[in-house]
Amino acid sequence: MAKARAVVQVGDRRYEIQEFELPRVRDDDALMRVEACGICGSDVDQYDGKLNGMGLQLPIVPGHEPVGVIEEIGAEAARRWGLKKGDRVAVEPGLGCGHCRDCIQGNFRRCRVGRPGTKIVACGFVPTHIPPSLWGGMAEYMYLDPHAALHKVSRDIPAELAALYQPMAAGISWAYYEPHTRVGDTVVVWGAGQRGLACVVGAREAGAAQVIVVARRQSEHRLALAKELGADVALYSEDDVVARVRELTHGEGADVVIDVTAQVMEPITKAVEMAKQAGTIVLAGVKGWGAMIPGLENDRIFVKELTIKGVRNSDYRSFEVAIRLIESRRYPLEKMHTHSFALEDIDLAIRTLAGRVPGENAVCVSLDPAL
Ligand SMILES: [Zn+2]
Ligand SMILES: [Zn+2]
Repeated sequence: MAKARAVVQVGDRRYEIQEFELPRVRDDDALMRVEACGICGSDVDQYDGKLNGMGLQLPIVPGHEPVGVIEEIGAEAARRWGLKKGDRVAVEPGLGCGHCRDCIQGNFRRCRVGRPGTKIVACGFVPTHIPPSLWGGMAEYMYLDPHAALHKVSRDIPAELAALYQPMAAGISWAYYEPHTRVGDTVVVWGAGQRGLACVVGAREAGAAQVIVVARRQSEHRLALAKELGADVALYSEDDVVARVRELTHGEGADVVIDVTAQVMEPITKAVEMAKQAGTIVLAGVKGWGAMIPGLENDRIFVKELTIKGVRNSDYRSFEVAIRLIESRRYPLEKMHTHSFALEDIDLAIRTLAGRVPGENAVCVSLDPAL
């Protein structure tokens, strides 16, 4: 029987390459040959063991940002998904139960019921003891459960470009749909990692008149990339960003401020200062569980009538729009992809993305099982 090689996380910062039998495809599921699997900050947290408290059961085949080609598909699955063998698909991380209140309302990414008997609600987080083990994208082949949410992607673009679909969906969701960004708005994006850069594009797509990106001085190369992707102004967070935003908006402040930075609180307090009257603040950066915001001038929130919105993941529509945007080649998104690694090099890939490899300036990193 044919087998697939897969990355298996067996402990904190410990991976192995293991082989699993390819599952027998039934009427309502499918098997995908993985072409590329994007890596994001949550993969780094998973690697470091920071997700262990959230009920993570090892060993796991990680990877929740895969793109690949349908190798085999059941007749009923083909009918439901509108797909056939040879189609390229991007897989959403969410694995809803399909029956609960959230799933019925189309919010399967918010499903709390999950897979039967496991409560697991995302691919790449299902332990290997649950057949058919190949639940994650960091493998040669990935099992597509009947509840997987799939999006067809053109085969005319490079796989590593297609693999940007998750950060790009976040950019569309967080900088466009969630804050209801409108034509003519000034949007400040705090952070210039993969999500921040995608938010620059999302704000541009929304018709923002002015997109301002903020990052630390050491992220110079990312700020330069942000400008190539459509940011009008790049600011250093070490400078007086609030004063600069006021200047750039003739004293009004920004319509929308998005914080995608990890661990630092300053962008949140500054966002409250730099947002205009009745402006919107989107919070998408992980600050560490239990962390509190020091220095937040609370009353400014109601005096200015601000809307503060937490966001996590993206909805189905944002994924569709993001994929069409990537296919259009209207932005030089290929510049966001900086590194591809073989499955065997997963440890190096994670450390490269995390900025732990001296001399490497990674933005988007993917695994390529064919390497
Ligand atoms: Zn991710
Ligand atoms: Zn559900």
